[in-house]
Amino acid sequence: MDLNWTPQERRFREEVRAFATDRLPADLRGKVMKHRRLERDDYVRWHNVLADHGWGAPNWPAEHGGTGWSPMQRLIFEVECFKAGAPRLLPFGLSMIGPVLMKYGSPAQQAELLPRIIRVQDWWCQGYSEPGSGSDLASLATRAVRDGDVYVVNGQKTWTTLAQYADRMFCLVRTDPEARAQRGISMLLLDMHAPGVTVRPIRTLDGGHDVNEVWLQDVRVPVANLVGEENLGWTYAKYLLGHERTTIAGLGHCHRELSILKDMAAKARVRGRPLLQDSRFRDRITRVEVDIMALEMLLLRVAADTGGVPGPEASVLKIRGSEIQQDLAMLQMEVAGPDAWPYDPEWMLAEADFHGPGPEMAAAAGAGYADMRKTSIYGGTTEVQKGIIARMVLGL
Ligand SMILES: Cc1cc2nc3c(=O)[nH]c(=O)nc-3n(C[C@H](O)[C@H](O)[C@H](O)COP(=O)(O)OP(=O)(O)OC[C@H]3O[C@@H](n4cnc5c(N)ncnc54)[C@H](O)[C@@H]3O)c2cc1C
Repeated sequence: MDLNWTPQERRFREEVRAFATDRLPADLRGKVMKHRRLERDDYVRWHNVLADHGWGAPNWPAEHGGTGWSPMQRLIFEVECFKAGAPRLLPFGLSMIGPVLMKYGSPAQQAELLPRIIRVQDWWCQGYSEPGSGSDLASLATRAVRDGDVYVVNGQKTWTTLAQYADRMFCLVRTDPEARAQRGISMLLLDMHAPGVTVRPIRTLDGGHDVNEVWLQDVRVPVANLVGEENLGWTYAKYLLGHERTTIAGLGHCHRELSILKDMAAKARVRGRPLLQDSRFRDRITRVEVDIMALEMLLLRVAADTGGVPGPEASVLKIRGSEIQQDLAMLQMEVAGPDAWPYDPEWMLAEADFHGPGPEMAAAAGAGYADMRKTSIYGGTTEVQKGIIARMVLGL
């Protein structure tokens, strides 16, 4: 496979770069580049800017309203948007339930739900994990019992990312308690505004509120909202996870954080010199830059070998992407030094004696480090991915 860019791909990169420079709202860029928290409206706004331009679903085929881009074009688009300081695209609709509905959803589900994803008319969330059922997901206990034209759902989901904003949840439920664990599971599309749904925040180490507990008490879900067939939800769940893990690799994120790291290191001064001129620190930056290049090659190889439908190879991408994101967060925190803690922006802005990268960047570095610990946990932990690679890729 030829990994060199063609003239068309170079032109495409220029086109995306010009678009992002021109159309990304300045306030959004400022928030992203300073590691500020994004609200619901920030994401929705950016999705709609893209949709207005026909780029609302970069990873979807044209027949479902997507761009129909090649894997290389998608990669270029992701990297350029991240470098420009654009918010990440919400993965829940575009990269998770969207591909599942295209492959397994009913024509009615496709017609109703797919177009609404592109402009975030529905904000989706992922209802997989439960207390006690994370890595061992097939042990999940949320129960759905058929009652005429509806399922009645009872149980608890946890770690549900951004459920506080969600309109709908793709939810794994147990429909046959007698069957072997994986066989009795179904996937339901649940209305988050339905009676019986309660969302409670979980505060995380970085001080943020990204994850939640979701309680489901006698929630009535129409049978028409079953994905595919009853008790075959495990197949759909695994298909979705392949897409999720490829997204978590976060190539665009890595590129952007690398450039922020270099900028911070250029401003930080150690014994009167910019840290970026310290050869040992430059070595460490170079090492992570090489890792990012290797991740990029790997992503393209997996895309080429699998035709864009990732299988167990996605676990390799997930591990490497997570590790690089954590390395970058670690290096940023080292540049910020003692100013990175504690994460209290007001105190930082008022009191701290900064040695370089500026109070806003320093204040965010500690929180960013804490936040990035999640990458080796969500979407399946690194240890679990290693088990998948051993069994499914290496055949051990
Ligand atoms: C920030 C964040 C966001 C998340 N968002 C969502 C979401 O939106 N929706 C959702 O459904 N879930 C979400 N999750 C949950 C995530 O998928 C689980 O946390 C993850 O699958 C691990 O499950 P667990 O937390 O129950 O840990 P456990 O499964 O209890 O694992 C504990 C430890 O044991 C190890 N371990 C477990 N089994 C094995 C094994 N077979 N071999 C080797 N080691 C093993 C793990 O690696 C880990 O170190 C999120 C998690 C985080 C941290």
